Amino acid sequence: MSCRICTDSPEATEAVGEAFGTVLVPGDLVLLEGDLGAGKTTLVRGLARGLGIKAGVKSPTFAIHLTYPGRLTLHHLDLYRIRGPEDLEELGLEDCFGREGVAVVEWAERLGPHPPPWAVRLRFEEPGPTSRILTLTGPSEVVTRLRAAGSGVVRR
Ligand code: ADP
Ligand code: MG
Repeated sequence: MSCRICTDSPEATEAVGEAFGTVLVPGDLVLLEGDLGAGKTTLVRGLARGLGIKAGVKSPTFAIHLTYPGRLTLHHLDLYRIRGPEDLEELGLEDCFGREGVAVVEWAERLGPHPPPWAVRLRFEEPGPTSRILTLTGPSEVVTRLRAAGSGVVRR
């Protein structure tokens, strides 16, 4: 399934992330796609808050993988600096997918054409300086959870 979410400020994108953070369950994988400055890290900041994480989220571009303890452990990955799926395997980065915590991946395009089928994908587009369109695709279950939580992020 697929749906579109529009935001008009960084705070609004954080709020979308927070809504996700409140409904994620162990093993969930969220893939973020879009250019530099699209708002991926901004969304992760809200998502971390939704998971009850107090620490401020930093961009893991140089670290590739940062871990934060919360209601569920957040694995925050940024694949900007990897060359392709072969690097991923070498670095063992996929080991945190589908495990006890949740994983959120920036530059998920680098995972190649066949990301794990249970993943939720959020593709960011930047139609204007402060407007973003997030296209959500993936299992309808996460959308069902977002609706049930009454977050208002996903319209009926
Ligand atoms: P990425 O991780 O995709 O490279 P960041 O989240 O680090 O992007 O940066 C997004 C930038 O765009 C920030 O400077 C943020 O303030 C700005 N911005 C403006 N409007 C929005 C919006 N609607 N949603 C998210 N970020 C926005
Ligand atoms: Mg980023």
